Amino acid sequence: MATALTDKLSSLVKKISGQARITESNVQDMLREVRMALLEADVALPVVRDFIARVKDKAMGQEVLGSLKPGQALVGIVNRELAATMGEGISDLNLAAQPPAVILMSGLQGSGKTTTTAKLARHLVQKRKKKVLTVSGDVYRPAAIEQLKTVTAQAGADWFPSTPDQKPLDIASAALTHAKTHFYDVLIVDTAGRLAIDEALMQEIKALHGALNPVETLFVVDAMQGQDAANTAKAFKDALPLTGIVLTKIDGDSRGGAALSVRQITGAPIKFAGVSEKIDGLEVFDAERHAGRILG
Ligand code: GDP
Repeated sequence: MATALTDKLSSLVKKISGQARITESNVQDMLREVRMALLEADVALPVVRDFIARVKDKAMGQEVLGSLKPGQALVGIVNRELAATMGEGISDLNLAAQPPAVILMSGLQGSGKTTTTAKLARHLVQKRKKKVLTVSGDVYRPAAIEQLKTVTAQAGADWFPSTPDQKPLDIASAALTHAKTHFYDVLIVDTAGRLAIDEALMQEIKALHGALNPVETLFVVDAMQGQDAANTAKAFKDALPLTGIVLTKIDGDSRGGAALSVRQITGAPIKFAGVSEKIDGLEVFDAERHAGRILG
């Protein structure tokens, strides 16, 4: 378990601090422990490799080898590197746009996009006192359109109708016009997902992005996907200029590694975390707290 990392490190620190000086092989031992703990937390392998390389670079410099307490210095480097990778503190939604501010939701089917659309609508209505409209561009699954209607009502926001015979681009532009003429502050556009990455899906969402010019392009990803989250994140990052991530289902994920993978691969901040199926099951993501969870 990831929780063992801190214990492992502190026992190594004890061993090392008894020695007059730290050697390259001490550092290697510690880095091996860190690598194992990250892999056990289900962080994707390439992300682990990068992370270890960065820590090693710093550890081999003056900071550790020249310090009075090399063990503690190394633990400090690992902690700081983890915090730096996860990003700092909290980053809320950016709504700095000529209203309506458009939020485009992206992600695979089942990741929690529709649920999250409603959770965000509720957050914006309740916490930021915004007038919010949602719309579904998922013309492939009529049930998804109905689902959005239901959860939007629970959120206390408004829903713009769409039907499976429409084109996603037409739906988006009709919803945008409606949002403008009815003075909505925010329009959240839910999109079609697929079970796996597919080129047609990517082209469609790219076109939507071009037409809507969203102020936020959020990537929704299931934390329980673990290492697979890294590949999905890469595909969406290559297709879209992501501005933020929503990590869903962290209530079912004890390992916490997907956050680090997705964050490093996309470079985008994790803005929210899904913590239950319910409409109020959304938390503003605290990167520092989550970094602590990975380290145990
Ligand atoms: P979509 O296909 O991406 O739109 O996914 P949905 O929004 O339909 O969600 C798929 C399933 O995941 C549903 O059963 C949701 O209730 C569930 N779900 C979404 N977010 C969370 C979450 O944060 N925690 C839990 N436990 N379940 C979630």
